[in-house]
Amino acid sequence: MSDHPAPPSQIPQHAELHWDDEGLPLSGEFNDYYFSKLDGLQETRYVYLEHNFLHQRWSALGTNDQFVVAETGFGTGLNFLASWQLWRQTAPTSACLHFISVEKFPLLKRDLCRALALWPELNNEVQALLSQYPAIVNKGFHRLSFDRGRVQLTLIVNEAVDGLEQLLQSTHPAHCRPQRGIDAWFLDGFSPAKNPDMWRPELFELVQKLSAAEATVATFAAATLVKRGLREHGFAVRQDTGFGRKREMVYAKLIQPAPLASQQDFPTNGFNSKYAVPWNIEARSPDIEAHKSSAEATKHAIIVGAGIAGCHTARSLADRGWRVTLLDRHAQLAQEGSGNPQGVLYAKLSHREETLSDFNLLALQFAQRVYQSFWQPACPTESDKAQAGSDATDPGHSENFTGTLGEQCGVLQLACSDKTAQLHEKLQRCYGKQALFEKVDAHQASRLSGIDSACGGLFFPHSGWINPGTLCQTLTDHPNIEIRLNTSVDRLHYEQHSALWRLETSPFQPRPQQQALPPAASSLGTLESSVVVLATASQVRQFPLTEALPLKPIRGQVTYVAASQQSQQLKTVLCGDGYLPPAINRQHCLGATFDPKRLELSINDEDHLRNLNTMRAQAPGLADTFTPTSVLGGRAALRCTTPDYLPLVGGVPQYEHFLEDYGLLRKNARANIPTPGRYWPGLFINVGHGSRGLAYTPICAEILAAKINREPTPVGSHMETALQPGRFWIRDLIRKKR
Ligand code: SAM
Repeated sequence: MSDHPAPPSQIPQHAELHWDDEGLPLSGEFNDYYFSKLDGLQETRYVYLEHNFLHQRWSALGTNDQFVVAETGFGTGLNFLASWQLWRQTAPTSACLHFISVEKFPLLKRDLCRALALWPELNNEVQALLSQYPAIVNKGFHRLSFDRGRVQLTLIVNEAVDGLEQLLQSTHPAHCRPQRGIDAWFLDGFSPAKNPDMWRPELFELVQKLSAAEATVATFAAATLVKRGLREHGFAVRQDTGFGRKREMVYAKLIQPAPLASQQDFPTNGFNSKYAVPWNIEARSPDIEAHKSSAEATKHAIIVGAGIAGCHTARSLADRGWRVTLLDRHAQLAQEGSGNPQGVLYAKLSHREETLSDFNLLALQFAQRVYQSFWQPACPTESDKAQAGSDATDPGHSENFTGTLGEQCGVLQLACSDKTAQLHEKLQRCYGKQALFEKVDAHQASRLSGIDSACGGLFFPHSGWINPGTLCQTLTDHPNIEIRLNTSVDRLHYEQHSALWRLETSPFQPRPQQQALPPAASSLGTLESSVVVLATASQVRQFPLTEALPLKPIRGQVTYVAASQQSQQLKTVLCGDGYLPPAINRQHCLGATFDPKRLELSINDEDHLRNLNTMRAQAPGLADTFTPTSVLGGRAALRCTTPDYLPLVGGVPQYEHFLEDYGLLRKNARANIPTPGRYWPGLFINVGHGSRGLAYTPICAEILAAKINREPTPVGSHMETALQPGRFWIRDLIRKKR
């Protein structure tokens, strides 16, 4: 057994497009048109929307209802855009459309722009899609969210059967019927004659397994193998006249769902499965089912920890109609690891196929899309900054940074060493065709940043800096979120008979160095909920149920420096081993030291010097403009990391049971143990974001909210397994460390 399911080769092939005389796109791979030459939009409406009866079904939806469409072949996104337009016209505003589309040959953004310019009628939707369309460098999942979360697009870059298999693994606890099945299928993807590989028997098997009760299918294809495939997998199949010159099309309704698999049916080769590992599949029992139903009925969650992980999670749940009680021991939000006044949105990419790099890329792009709606569209002008600067009265305090949420001013990762320059070369080869970053020389770097730079680097135009405290306030400003501060959770236990978590709380007594305000009166005592999310970084280890998780605090100190005349000109974030964002109120927050050995939080001059020296290595000219008196103060906090630098996100396994169930791994690392994992019902964690909290927490919140609200996964089973909190216990068993 491997403790990590191996992903298939990750590099996708982009679609090679040809354009005919009328400007319509053809696929180079399949030598066929993406949509009808007659009228692609009418074809979509006729074949997919009408024959899945979407107008009627969406008009009949109720408050907070969900509807899931799945498609094979995203292509130009026309089917998605037409569906979205109809959804806006017919569905209640609180309902949510999940549109999942699997695409083997994704279009480059430039081709997508050209193809979608054909549909002025869909211009609003087209522009929104283009503004979020990701750089696609890996196979895998991309979650795009529109209309304030009412429309969620999950683009799975993969071969159809492989992509749907991943979906099945993560929505099928113990391979039973999906929590939230597909309601309507669009089987697109070129004709079976031109594309026999996609129309395999496995495709129809997955369609049946993933379907909700009474799911429908529509397809332009009317080949016998399509009708047979659907019939053999539980569908009643009908035919209608095809669109345009096509004689026939097929539509169908599920009349016989796939049989529910029992635990005994769990595949004995579970551990060798391409995507799923049994320990990341929640064992089912009547208790757990009852718990899930009661959680779904009450829709109330308690989140412990009001840093960016907790606040993003609160917001993701609140947007889904959940009532959230957000607890924190401090008197304000974002007082610990999320308390620095300027955090930088960046990620660590690699040219290698590795999960950490894949996750960074996925998380960075998701975060950029999320923050797009919070950020001011452009950097403030120089005169705005000067005006703000003239208002600064008391330099040296983090409060001087408040008021601004941040700026999407771009992040310049400088390559000031040969090693970094070589890495950037490789990244350029790997990601170069995409709009994720620009590789720039020293001259361009100087122009972009507004200061003289001796080296070039990678410029990420969609990134920037954020004030995490202001972000937390913005995220939690939501009618479904109740914030309780000055509240320390002392005990956490699960009451089987009521299927509720009971949290015993008390007023927090801050230690002097934690600088929190004295506790104010707050409602204390006992709180109950069927769902609890722990987002308290390394402090999750205070609870016996989570104390065995391998989390490590790492001290980091930032330095507040008075902006010099030159540094006032800085227009982007400079990044290397440290970071320097543009000045706010004539101060920069220069970061940050990295100290795994020290835990005390007092600020020291030595670390300020380290920060200045790190910056000197990146931008010596600029660093020299700061004098010893430029240092105005600083702040130290503990980040929380994990041994593999990926966060811990997901349900909390029951430690003793895990060791018992998978104990055989101590003797045989490849032992085949097809036992699903035993988890604490309704207990989740979201921790271990290290210094990448701004990038990691939005997607992690979305993963948890999707799990809790029983929605399709935003990231797929491979990534969910890579983030699963119990992974280290499995690895330790294999290494005989537990
Ligand atoms: N629905 C699309 C639209 O709205 O523009 C048009 C789809 S086009 C006819 C077919 C799409 O299926 C192409 O984008 C093609 O790359 C994709 N495709 C073909 N074979 C596939 C496979 N095995 N798995 C996933 N996608 C596939």
